[in-house]
Amino acid sequence: MREPDVRERYPHLVGGEWTEPAAGEYVETTDPATNEPITTVAAGTAADVDAAVAAAREAFPEWRDTDPVTRGQRVHRVAELIREHKDELAAIESLDQGKPLSQAKSDFEGAARYFEYYAGAADKLEGESIPVGTGQVDYTVREPYGVSAQIVPWNFPGNLFARGVAPALVAGNATVVKPAPTTPLSAFHLAELCYEAGIPEGAVNVVAGGGEPGEALTAHEGVDTITFTGSVPTGQAVMRSAAENVTPVTLELGGKNPAIVYPDADVEEAVGWIATAIFTNAGQVCSAADRALVHEDVYDEFVEQITDIADAYELGPGRDDPDMGPLNSAAHRDRVCEYIEQGREEGAAVAAGGGVPDREGNFVEPTVFVDVDNEMVVAQEEIFGPVLVVVPFGDDDDPIEIANDVEYGLTAGIFTNDVRRAHRDAQRLQAGNVYVNKWFGDTNQTPFGGYKKSGIGREKGFEALDSYLQTKNVAVNLERGLGDDLPGA
Ligand code: NAD
Repeated sequence: MREPDVRERYPHLVGGEWTEPAAGEYVETTDPATNEPITTVAAGTAADVDAAVAAAREAFPEWRDTDPVTRGQRVHRVAELIREHKDELAAIESLDQGKPLSQAKSDFEGAARYFEYYAGAADKLEGESIPVGTGQVDYTVREPYGVSAQIVPWNFPGNLFARGVAPALVAGNATVVKPAPTTPLSAFHLAELCYEAGIPEGAVNVVAGGGEPGEALTAHEGVDTITFTGSVPTGQAVMRSAAENVTPVTLELGGKNPAIVYPDADVEEAVGWIATAIFTNAGQVCSAADRALVHEDVYDEFVEQITDIADAYELGPGRDDPDMGPLNSAAHRDRVCEYIEQGREEGAAVAAGGGVPDREGNFVEPTVFVDVDNEMVVAQEEIFGPVLVVVPFGDDDDPIEIANDVEYGLTAGIFTNDVRRAHRDAQRLQAGNVYVNKWFGDTNQTPFGGYKKSGIGREKGFEALDSYLQTKNVAVNLERGLGDDLPGA
């Protein structure tokens, strides 16, 4: 494995310059497999956010006015550079986040594809001409907002940096990125690749830290649009804070995603998909299949097979490329363990895992709870760890009703060979993304986002560009003299 090329210390990146934090403070980021320090990173404050927003505001006009073909070429170059540096980026991410190296590599392949995909859109952000009658011309133009704040969580730090920054830049915005405090490193390295690709330095700024700079960013009057990915409570705080300046927000929040397995499904295949969909990234995936609703006819078969898979998982530090790495922080591991305890107390049975392996680091065993009632807390709340709850249903139950009976609505899956049932269910499921006989694998071309408390707006695909462009309508009178148009007519 390539040794992670980690700097000795990471100040903020403001206007392309390594910039000392205004308060002069640094914090450690640690390896979740050992909880040993990796390096130190600036502890951001509101003053650092002020500096980064000022740099972004200054860079914005130049980037907005860069012709779209050049803008696209530079963004495309970022994709090439990410691929060239994929191994070293993955090594840093795996160390900082804890994920297996091969998953980190896949994250950066995905990151490169975001830049590639959106690069092609740079010269296609067209408005329209609207036929409003003779003697008039009416058209729309799509303009960048200005400064886009990107608040990134710790589960896919580099990949989600790309998911937001690529469309924001292509649309002509400047950005200020605040990575999560436990996984800040890849954002700095990606920003440097953006500079190398010719993106103006002030168009990509990175301010490290937690809630303080996060809140300062969302309340800042120099920020024109906010993209936030994280938990529901923080998303709600972001909305409240953004309301002050009426700043638009895109929120990608959590999920409690149902995977429905019907008796006519290929059970082995369903088990394979669901195991991958709950244990990848140690379950720290907003779109994970964390709630399996399984018909009683195939229940025992399903439980036996998924338990075998969970029991066979090998755990280890990300750099050894195990089946599963540690959770990202000791605090998060403790939170997940509390949920496991709560599941036991509520009467759910542990069929696999349910404990913490006897080793250093923030590991939790892949866990399967069976005989779960959908009303239990472990079936209602997002655990965000390697914990699957299995809820049985019978012929008299409506699995879609059970599936929808949570406050989230991010993803949902149906495993069946009945094509009519699959499409009927897809219509009734309250989720932004429905999978049929598969999980994950949404590409960067397809829109992704939540119903209900899972969020507002869409990431990925062309639809994501709507978060970074506002529409201006231009109405032109071609005749001389005054018309008789009145407002509201
Ligand atoms: P979190 O809400 O604790 O933090 C997210 C980010 O917000 C971090 O960068 C954090 O520093 C920052 N932050 C904290 N307080 C803030 C404040 N008051 N104002 C502004 N920013 C603030 O979430 P997390 O623990 O980092 O991530 C886990 C959650 O994210 C899970 O619920 C998961 O489902 C969700 N998530 C959703 C998606 C998606 O696409 N829907 C993707 C990844 C994670």
